Amino acid sequence: MKTSIATVCLSGDLPEKLRAIAAAGFDGIEIFEQDFIAFDGSPSEVGKMVRDHGLEITLFQPFRDFEGLPEPYRSRAFDRMERKFDLMGQLGAELVLVCSSVHPEARGGIDRMADDFAQLGERAAARDMRVGYEALAWGKHVCDHRDAWEVVRRADHPNIGLILDSFHTLARKIDPESIRRIPGDKIFFVQLADAPQIEMDLLYWSRHFRNMPGEGDLDVAGFMRAVAATGYNDHLSLEVFNDQFRGGNPNAIALDGHRSLVNLMDSVIRSEPDIAITVPKMPPRIRADGVAFVEFAANDAEATSLGALLHSMGFRRVGRHVSKSVELWQQGDVRIILNTDGDGFANSSHVMHGMNICDIGLSVESAKDTLARADMLAAKTFHQAVGPGELNIPAIRGVGGGLLHFIDDVSGLRDVWDVEFRPVEDDTPSAPCGLTRIDHIAQTMAYDELLTWSLFYISLFDLAKAPVIDVVDPGGLVRSQAIASADGKLRLTLNGAETHRTMAGRFVADSFGSSVQHVAFASKDIYETAKAMANVGFSALPIPNNYYDDLAARLGLDDEKVEELKALNILYDEDASGAFYQFYSKPFGDGMFFEIVQRTGGYSGYGAPNAPYRTAAQRRLMRPASVPAR
Ligand code: MG
Ligand code: MG
Repeated sequence: MKTSIATVCLSGDLPEKLRAIAAAGFDGIEIFEQDFIAFDGSPSEVGKMVRDHGLEITLFQPFRDFEGLPEPYRSRAFDRMERKFDLMGQLGAELVLVCSSVHPEARGGIDRMADDFAQLGERAAARDMRVGYEALAWGKHVCDHRDAWEVVRRADHPNIGLILDSFHTLARKIDPESIRRIPGDKIFFVQLADAPQIEMDLLYWSRHFRNMPGEGDLDVAGFMRAVAATGYNDHLSLEVFNDQFRGGNPNAIALDGHRSLVNLMDSVIRSEPDIAITVPKMPPRIRADGVAFVEFAANDAEATSLGALLHSMGFRRVGRHVSKSVELWQQGDVRIILNTDGDGFANSSHVMHGMNICDIGLSVESAKDTLARADMLAAKTFHQAVGPGELNIPAIRGVGGGLLHFIDDVSGLRDVWDVEFRPVEDDTPSAPCGLTRIDHIAQTMAYDELLTWSLFYISLFDLAKAPVIDVVDPGGLVRSQAIASADGKLRLTLNGAETHRTMAGRFVADSFGSSVQHVAFASKDIYETAKAMANVGFSALPIPNNYYDDLAARLGLDDEKVEELKALNILYDEDASGAFYQFYSKPFGDGMFFEIVQRTGGYSGYGAPNAPYRTAAQRRLMRPASVPAR
């Protein structure tokens, strides 16, 4: 599998881009004319610099407005191309992309255009170069790959081929299955991009909103299956125009890009096994069976107050680590670890971020397979010295540098609680309050990390994305990307904050990075749970009366139900498939909180309509924004 990426995808000057592209593991680059026009060095120096990074120039682009022109434009287009061939020779590029014309003088007619390309083929052959023709979705006469292919077919020249671009095909909703009829050796190059599904002008959509395969809503895998079925075996190249990426960190974007291609081809080969492209072998996307634990890094004082909060929710201290200052708390299947040890990862995480959830344990079928897939996707594995009597549990770095540990049965890792912890009697046990499991974990990050982490999760795990929703916070919008397994055993929400004025944005600023902001616990009977928790000293986030008045009017709930919700500060939402109940703890630390939820029927959301009232209630209890956190 040969990978390539257009230089236009990344920010920085050409040397910066090349470093990032080479480090991410790409084999080549599509060079954009602008990138080297801006570079202070001759074309041959640029070519050498590219090769010095171990990369090749897979494509020179773009060449616009070539075909279908009357004289004198036609001769000028050929002259222009001769100059580009000179330049390509100096750069060391042998394939040029000609995109379908938008020239006001361009005439239609497949044969007229085919004749132009046949003649261009002769000129290219004389230089040992090749020309690929791409249908722009907004081309004047050719805007469909099927027409571009017909032009190429009739040109009937070995140096003239087709260039396919997933965006142009899928944005126009052209069935990618039509690609299967094209001979693979006439497809000279394949460009890949995804995009969020938004209705807008095609050109604007393409220039600003493309993203990496898997990050958007287009069926790039279906497109690529059809391409691979033709026998195509050349570069898979990312051509992603995205405002955010062009201003982002080139190393991170290049890594995301490479990961997206590895994940894409893994998915392609699973349903299209007889293809010419060699795809790295790895275990299939990992099914996660839920959250095995969450671990807080805290100092002694923070652990004491967190312990009091946990007591007031019906948790018990059940274990102490054999050698470290680490406690295990439990209720139902929810396990919470409080780590106050002066050594190790949790300690350094605490130094950096203050109290935070530094580690999430996920239940998987095979921790070994999970690590193997993570490795192929270039996730960072984590190692720390294993103390006497401790298990070596595989881990990788996740959001904000926090850890994800993988717990399974096959390797005995599920025994960790018995092996590494000694049971303790809780001095002040409270009665369990009916919390059964972790319903979801919400991770908050800067908005420009949202695509990175959603790609991270969906490429590694068998999880699906829900549409991104805007959660209204009094301080601005927060974009929320929910990701869940089909059975609902693992649910994550990734919240991207664009401004520090939102509750989420302040959390990112105050905790010095992306991190878990809340954990939601499931109850089978939220009224009983809320009452039981109140009995053991829990004080819920107070919700104003106005919310309940509106709720009654909006959803037509009867008075009795509304009174019951109001008495316990429970928020409510419903949709066609079921209902959702939720209440919250007061914020603690730098704006973390707990949530208690109950789902009925098939409700699979997170109560987004309630978020503005919840965040407003939380803000009332938090320090004013003008007071520094530390
Ligand atoms: Mg393209
Ligand atoms: Mg939530």
